[in-house]
Amino acid sequence: MRKGEVKTIELTGQNVLAMRDAQSAQAAGATQVRVCERCVITPSARDFLRQNEIELVMAPGAVVAASTRQSSAASTVQATRSPANPRLFSTPEAEAIKMEICAVGRKLWNRGYVDGNGGNISYRIGPNEVLCTPTLFSKLDLTPDDMCLVDLDGVQIAGTKPRTSEIFLHLEIYKAVPEAKAAVHCHPPHATAYAITGRVPPNGIIPEFEVFVGKVAISPYETPGTAAFAQTVLPYVREHNTVLLSNHGIICWADSVTHAEWYAEVVDTYCHTLILASQLGVPISQISERQTTDLLAIKKKLGLPDSRFDPAAMKECQLSDMDDPNSIARLPCVRDGATRITADAPEMDRLVKMVTDAVMSAMGES
Ligand SMILES: [Zn+2]
Repeated sequence: MRKGEVKTIELTGQNVLAMRDAQSAQAAGATQVRVCERCVITPSARDFLRQNEIELVMAPGAVVAASTRQSSAASTVQATRSPANPRLFSTPEAEAIKMEICAVGRKLWNRGYVDGNGGNISYRIGPNEVLCTPTLFSKLDLTPDDMCLVDLDGVQIAGTKPRTSEIFLHLEIYKAVPEAKAAVHCHPPHATAYAITGRVPPNGIIPEFEVFVGKVAISPYETPGTAAFAQTVLPYVREHNTVLLSNHGIICWADSVTHAEWYAEVVDTYCHTLILASQLGVPISQISERQTTDLLAIKKKLGLPDSRFDPAAMKECQLSDMDDPNSIARLPCVRDGATRITADAPEMDRLVKMVTDAVMSAMGES
């Protein structure tokens, strides 16, 4: 490409620009990447674009922050939002959602998914307004009067109790996934057992899990309550409604608070069942690939996300399924370098090297 020539990569159909998008754009020789006004740029993607002098521009009609005009380096984009409306806190819809959140809180507590004051629940009730649970409350004891209303920056705009400190985790999901209306974060013991080992359950075993959850992602550990922690889920939440949070718990999003809690139940029950089956001393039987494809078709009809809808992703994910076909705890799918589970990084490197060596030697033999 001649000096001064501009090559633009259009990514205006995406709500999140992650590291892998930035790397693909760079590999394609982009000097400019165009995103939509709502697009969330992950910090690593932003840094990568800046380092490679790839300009970040918003689609026409969007408001570009002043800093974007300063240089050809990556620009800062700022989505425009309507001011938060505190009146949404006491509409009939809000009162019904508050009751639903309380009911879900009791379910989580009764199932042993929320210890002490752990866990939090939220619902996006307006374009810039989110109902959520208060901090330092057992989910068993919640009443509608305890709820809070925040804007998408986490600023509390209604409610007498202080909001959960984990609201930023929920807000990152709402900003990245337009379909996400509700989010539930909790610490279910069996799913959390996976989350503390850096492993995910295998697929193709129980239909309900395939349809409602499917591939589970695992995000790297960061200190709870921080912005860095909230952003760890960003590379995964478009293609997964359930993410294991390393050394912590899980987060599920859905179209309703009730459904987000269902996914927590589905994933924890699945992990529990696998752990029980592994004690029987015989191999676990698998659903065939064709039958799994049928389940994925059902899932697509229901409008649920799954990384396997993307054939390229599926191919990459198969690599991680090669570690041990009989294991109930698999290394997570590694896409775009976003999954870095610190506890297992050396082992992951060793495994990737082992698989690469095997493939290279097989190619050499053919
Ligand atoms: Zn937690």
